[in-house]
Amino acid sequence: METTAFVYHPDYELHDTGPWHPETSRRARIVQERIRASELKDHLLWLEPEEAEPLCVEKCHTPAYRRFVEESSGQKRTQLDAGDTWASPESYRVALLAIGGVMMAVDSVMEGRCRNGFVCSRPPGHHARPEAAMGFCLFDQIAIAARYAQEKHGLERILIIDWDVHHGNGTEEIFYQDPSVFYFSTHQHPFYPGTGAANDTGKGAGAGFTLNVPLPAGCGLIEYRDAFQNQLVPAANRFKPDLILVSAGFDAHREDPLAGMHLEDEDFAELTHYVRNLAEEHCQGRLVSILEGGYNLQVLARSVEKHLAVLCGQA
Ligand SMILES: [Zn+2]
Repeated sequence: METTAFVYHPDYELHDTGPWHPETSRRARIVQERIRASELKDHLLWLEPEEAEPLCVEKCHTPAYRRFVEESSGQKRTQLDAGDTWASPESYRVALLAIGGVMMAVDSVMEGRCRNGFVCSRPPGHHARPEAAMGFCLFDQIAIAARYAQEKHGLERILIIDWDVHHGNGTEEIFYQDPSVFYFSTHQHPFYPGTGAANDTGKGAGAGFTLNVPLPAGCGLIEYRDAFQNQLVPAANRFKPDLILVSAGFDAHREDPLAGMHLEDEDFAELTHYVRNLAEEHCQGRLVSILEGGYNLQVLARSVEKHLAVLCGQA
């Protein structure tokens, strides 16, 4: 079984952030169009998800916050936080569709329909806090996927690898005291959202199960390779995950408009090799990758293609 699932729904476009927002409604569609036109097309298992049950949100968010997002997705576009996170009339349903996407990918991998999977969804999720929207994110899909994999499939240890250029403060917060989910992040620092210091390593029973690698602006493959080889790989070998989830943002690319890192298209292939090898070594290849950031649309689509080529064994 060497197939990679590509999970996508055309309604991901219906979460409307407004005309000038970097997290534009077209992001997932443009990625999907490029992959569908590429040579990878026939190596992928194309899946269209359904909405998750609303209560799935409450695996990682408070009931009051879930209802707030539901009610905010009313007649017109409203801002959910002091930043730039919006809800439009369809946003709640689209966010449930994004959760449905990661759950479908986890099920497909666990049931052996595919070896690994990529969820081409939006909005992103890793900044969403248990009780608040943040950083273009409504619900933390990857965190919910980790809980879902534990509850539905009985997995014990989940490794989350977050190479988005921003620190995934929401994911870190949700699992900060939890030794069953290891959170690893490389991120530009100091930078938005300001969290992710190297000495933030977890708390209580979760102490030692968060590994932050803050990197100054201007870093490229040399620094990422060092972080993956010398920090991620040994930590993963100690943790021995049953499933790997990837918060795959592509905004550490040199041409991304929001950040200042220097990765190139093909560097995402190398990062993918590291995580794929870890999945092969520890959990029969079980890996689900979820789209987070990436705001230069052409660069995003190209970088996802590099990522997918490695996931499906074509590079
Ligand atoms: Zn980001």
